[in-house]
Amino acid sequence: MARRGNLFILAAPSGAGKSSLISALLKDKPADMQVSVSTTTRAMRPGEENGVHYHFVDVDQFKNLIQQGAFFEYAEVFGNFYGTSKITIEQTLEKGIDVFLDIDWQGARQVKALIPDAIGVYILPPSKVELERRLRGRGQDSDEVIASRMAEAISEMSHFDEFDYVIVNQDFDTALADLQAIVCCQRHRLARQVEAHSVMLEDLLAQ
Ligand code: GDP
Ligand code: ADP
Ligand code: 5GP
Repeated sequence: MARRGNLFILAAPSGAGKSSLISALLKDKPADMQVSVSTTTRAMRPGEENGVHYHFVDVDQFKNLIQQGAFFEYAEVFGNFYGTSKITIEQTLEKGIDVFLDIDWQGARQVKALIPDAIGVYILPPSKVELERRLRGRGQDSDEVIASRMAEAISEMSHFDEFDYVIVNQDFDTALADLQAIVCCQRHRLARQVEAHSVMLEDLLAQ
């Protein structure tokens, strides 16, 4: 049977850098890694593309998708709905491709309950001041939206200890190397190596 992909859950307060880290990780389009494109009811930001950053839908469409059981998990964050498509995740993992979810702590908890093998990675900013600076520097949200995201940041960050790994995104390249190391560790775990190299192991261990 083909080896299933690993499921990585990345969470962080808004502005900590998880989208940048995931996009840097996948920059060269590796065949064995994919980010999950969520569905959301939030307004599209300048520069965002439907189907690339998110599948943008209205609240009625989102509720229909809930009814149809289309979501692996969903949550309300900052007054908008966000959800992960069940079929896409299943099909991608089935092909042996590692999947990265960029979701909030509520979604992370749901995914961990469904797939205990999923690997949780929490991204922390080095300080509150730096978090706000990044949110402003991104230049995509109004003052009101930034204030609400800063207000939510503490409760979001209070869940960091529900994750398997923690990365402090101070220097971007260091944080990216940390994330790459976590992915590498996971790929070398005993159970996965046994699956990946079954024929070779049989040969090596034959008397
Ligand atoms: P950003 O994190 O500042 O780029 O803002 P977004 O509007 O893209 O995301 C807001 C929050 O929703 C973040 O905490 C995301 O991790 C979370 N989020 C995005 N997609 C999903 C999803 O499919 N499910 C859940 N539960 N949360 C999501
Ligand atoms: P998130 O997806 O967690 O909301 P983003 O990836 O959009 O966060 O990052 C927020 C902003 O901070 C972006 O403008 C990004 O370029 C910047 N940023 C990310 N990591 C760093 C870092 N280590 N140092 C400085 N700026 C960073
Ligand atoms: P985004 O549009 O997601 O904010 O970032 C676009 C790209 O810029 C990301 O893919 C990432 O590689 C890069 N990037 C974002 N922030 C930093 C940073 O602080 N340092 C470096 N070296 N690259 C960054």
